[in-house]
Amino acid sequence: MTDERATTAGPMDAVESANAGQIALLELIARQAPLPEVLDGMARCIERLTPHEVLVSVLLADPDGRHLRHGAAPGLPDFYNEAIDGIATGEGIGSCGTAAHRREPVIVTDIATDPFWADFRDLAGRAGLAACWSTPVLARDGALLGTFAMYHRTPRVPDESDLTLARIFAGTAALAIERHHDEQARLAAEERARAALEELAEAVRDAERRAAAAADLAARMRAAATAQATAPHPEHCQLGGVPPCEAPAEIKIADSWGDAAWGCPDHVEEAIINVRSVFIASEELGGLAAYLNR
Ligand SMILES: [Zn+2]
Repeated sequence: MTDERATTAGPMDAVESANAGQIALLELIARQAPLPEVLDGMARCIERLTPHEVLVSVLLADPDGRHLRHGAAPGLPDFYNEAIDGIATGEGIGSCGTAAHRREPVIVTDIATDPFWADFRDLAGRAGLAACWSTPVLARDGALLGTFAMYHRTPRVPDESDLTLARIFAGTAALAIERHHDEQARLAAEERARAALEELAEAVRDAERRAAAAADLAARMRAAATAQATAPHPEHCQLGGVPPCEAPAEIKIADSWGDAAWGCPDHVEEAIINVRSVFIASEELGGLAAYLNR
């Protein structure tokens, strides 16, 4: 860790290497790398850049801003990250919960004595953490996106350059998280559009099926009317109910119980569509038609 920092920060001046690190991060954001990858890269970049040991943590706010979820903290132990995952935002809930609640940086220089850390002092002790400076990560519209924290192994008061670095990287984190949210929103919108299109396509297919069925029925009725034109039949439609239909009887229909009647095309169509057992009494039905013609 010490050697790695020396290599990175050694020949280059701190600002130059900070810029190089930030450019690499912005490239990650620009090519839409997954958010955990960007935040992880950011955390490691800062951990390399700073001359003294620092451990970086990014927590992500729930949409309602009431809880903070694990985002990235490659240098912190798993048991610590798991314990912090899901903490509430609020006054006095560690550095991050308080910073998220206040929407302003919260600098805890000594975890061992700070009242904000009363509930997390033992946990921090087990992880070897002595100071925690947290900066809220805010969207352009001021909405809470999460927190950006720098932990230290010994009690520490930040100097001006520490605060500048925290502000710059909280801004970078905001960019990455907002980009991620925009991407999620775009994917959700695409999914809604795809579902709506599918629904529309299904409605069109359904309408086409019904149109085809109606055309098929009309063709069969025309054929039946032609075939039955010479058969003896009543003058008027028998299907009209009260008052009786005055239209000429053209087509004979029947049902599977042997009842038969003559109707006009409109009433025959209505009967075939609405009564499942009704069919056109076609001569082609052979035995059944003969039976129905009795
Ligand atoms: Zn009729």
